[in-house]
Amino acid sequence: MIDKRQFYINGQWVNPVTANDLTVIDPSTEEPCAVISLGDQADTDAAVAAARAAFPAWADTPLEERVALVKKLREIYVARRADMAEAIRAEMGAPLDLASNNQWGAGVWHLDGFLEALENFEFEYAMGADRMRKEPIGVCGMITPWNWPMNQVFLKAIPALLVGCTMVLKPSEIAPLSSIVFAEMMDEAGFPAGVFNMVNGDGVGVGSQLSSHPDVDMISFTGSTRAGIAISKAAADTLKRVSLELGGKGANIIFADADEKAVKRGVIHCMQNSGQSCNAPTRMMVESSAYAAAVEQAKAAAEAVQVGATTESGRHIGPVVSEVQFNKIQGLIEIGIKEGATLVAGGLGRPEGMNKGYYVRPTVFADVTPDMTIYREEIFGPVLAISPFDSEAQAVQMANDTVYGLTNYIQTQDDDKRLRVARQVRSGMVETNGVGRVNGSPFGGYGQSGNGREGGGWGLEEFCETKAISGVPMA
Ligand code: NAD
Repeated sequence: MIDKRQFYINGQWVNPVTANDLTVIDPSTEEPCAVISLGDQADTDAAVAAARAAFPAWADTPLEERVALVKKLREIYVARRADMAEAIRAEMGAPLDLASNNQWGAGVWHLDGFLEALENFEFEYAMGADRMRKEPIGVCGMITPWNWPMNQVFLKAIPALLVGCTMVLKPSEIAPLSSIVFAEMMDEAGFPAGVFNMVNGDGVGVGSQLSSHPDVDMISFTGSTRAGIAISKAAADTLKRVSLELGGKGANIIFADADEKAVKRGVIHCMQNSGQSCNAPTRMMVESSAYAAAVEQAKAAAEAVQVGATTESGRHIGPVVSEVQFNKIQGLIEIGIKEGATLVAGGLGRPEGMNKGYYVRPTVFADVTPDMTIYREEIFGPVLAISPFDSEAQAVQMANDTVYGLTNYIQTQDDDKRLRVARQVRSGMVETNGVGRVNGSPFGGYGQSGNGREGGGWGLEEFCETKAISGVPMA
């Protein structure tokens, strides 16, 4: 079994101050695959102190040197792709191809997006006779989830490094292995001691210690709305900046004039990563005249989604991350049935022939009404809810009938309608007709989906303070 009980603090791998082991479970086998430590206040304090001490020199380091180190990290990340993919596979159950392509690839993609945005990023510029400066905010606590582990770490660590912040990363205790590999890469790249620190721990421990720490200037958090609220409260006494990327319950509005692949595309997107994406299109809304056909197409598409072992190559989906998630999803499927939604594919229990691992059947419910639990709650599993709508106005009203507002999706070949509806739905992102967003486009939500904007220039801004200086005009 992999033994990764040390933390990375001040450029060294160090033992926890007090031993507190946690076993990491491989969700595809339900067997232990690694042991880590959960940190305590003394470990958190040591990491924050290292980041604080390193901050002035790192903030003062010429930008070209910071960029060169980030590029070095990129080289190492590319060279150790297989190690990273294996860590992600084992910790959170992504099948190898997904782990080494989409999951691993998200890191490189974001890193490149930040470097590109940096070319047009003005750290100092004139506003009339005043001088505006963007300065690094300071010591950042980064708390990340398990579902797209490197995606989240790169969205936080890379912009913070580039603008001159120092940091303490606390990855998810359920999926800590990829962040340990990331810390090894940071060490190999040669960042100065204390710029990047990593302490494993749980939410109530290291997570809340970072959130309330007087020497942490900012918390950048991605995870559940529940934890986002707890972090905001813990951070309130020190009035630190709190940037939140939280849950979602995205609507996928499919008009009768949508392209013929719209339903299938929506099902596959919902099931990708075993349904464990905050921006998944989990509420499919279909115009009444196309509804019956769409339900049939969705059933066929869900039944075609293969579920399989994480060690096998292919485009199948793997297990969900943990027993807790498996049970939560099963509970919500049961509630969907009890509340009267029509089960058209999948359902309770593991897929046929599978009796070990947290595998869930790709599930589709039709005739889901807005009062039903499965319409309202983020399920975070391969479960789709389909509902009919009669008019454009009703589609918008239904899409906005949620506390979340991360990504909504619109499918129609009518350009005017697509833009009209995109303007009315309340979310930080709107994807239409299956066209993905460009690199550097800001990722973030409205309402209980959070307040942060990550990626590209917006992501660099997140980690900066703005300073206005008068009387020293720019030439
Ligand atoms: P989670 O909130 O349980 O855990 C996320 C992280 O927060 C972990 O590191 C955990 O240890 C820590 N944490 C938990 N409670 C805490 C507390 N009280 N104080 C400080 N830290 C605490 O979420 P999860 O189950 O790991 O991830 C799934 C959730 O993340 C989903 O709700 C999903 O929608 C959301 N998510 C959002 C985005 C986005 O960008 N909007 C991206 C990915 C995932």
